Amino acid sequence: MSAIQLHKHDLPAGLDLGPIVAVDTETMGLDPRRDRLCLVQLSSGDGTAHLVQIIPPSLGGKGADCPNLKALLTNPQVTKLFHYARFDIAALENGLGVVTAPVICTKIASKLVRTYTDRHGLKDLCRDLAGVEISKQQQTSDWGALELTKEQLSYAASDVLYLHAIWAKLKALLIRENRLEIAQAAYDFLPVKAKLDLLGYAEADLFSH
Ligand code: MN
Repeated sequence: MSAIQLHKHDLPAGLDLGPIVAVDTETMGLDPRRDRLCLVQLSSGDGTAHLVQIIPPSLGGKGADCPNLKALLTNPQVTKLFHYARFDIAALENGLGVVTAPVICTKIASKLVRTYTDRHGLKDLCRDLAGVEISKQQQTSDWGALELTKEQLSYAASDVLYLHAIWAKLKALLIRENRLEIAQAAYDFLPVKAKLDLLGYAEADLFSH
């Protein structure tokens, strides 16, 4: 049985989510430079999802004034676990002005070990590695609304609730296939990759001739 806690503006002070925190974001769209950050979801992996709604000052909110959330995202002792971290790190940097680190990404891990498939979406990983069917129906809904629907909250929560279970499976596979080290190197590069996206180098390959 999972639980959802909705917080306006920031995480509560003193909340300890452990050494590895699953994180996801919802935004107004797919361009982290253009589309504002609306929601940040977090879970310690215990079945509870903490949802932080980011409300801009123009709508009566506190915008990027969320010191507890920013402290967690930048805490070097806490690893942030994402699915497709590249986008979320860029969205968080654009929305809150912080560089999220250190990070783990289940999509990169999946690409490094599940080479027998090209299905690396969160829905695929939830089904194949955690035995859970999640719905992506609310993905394209209006996350900028001041009052989010029950369906939106439950969808947003499902994006962080199973990441720990998925990561446990993927980590075992990375060890089995001797690719944990290259995965870690890729994770360490992710904040730079997100920064390049924000600078307009999303399509460019800096390593190509
Ligand atoms: Mn999501």
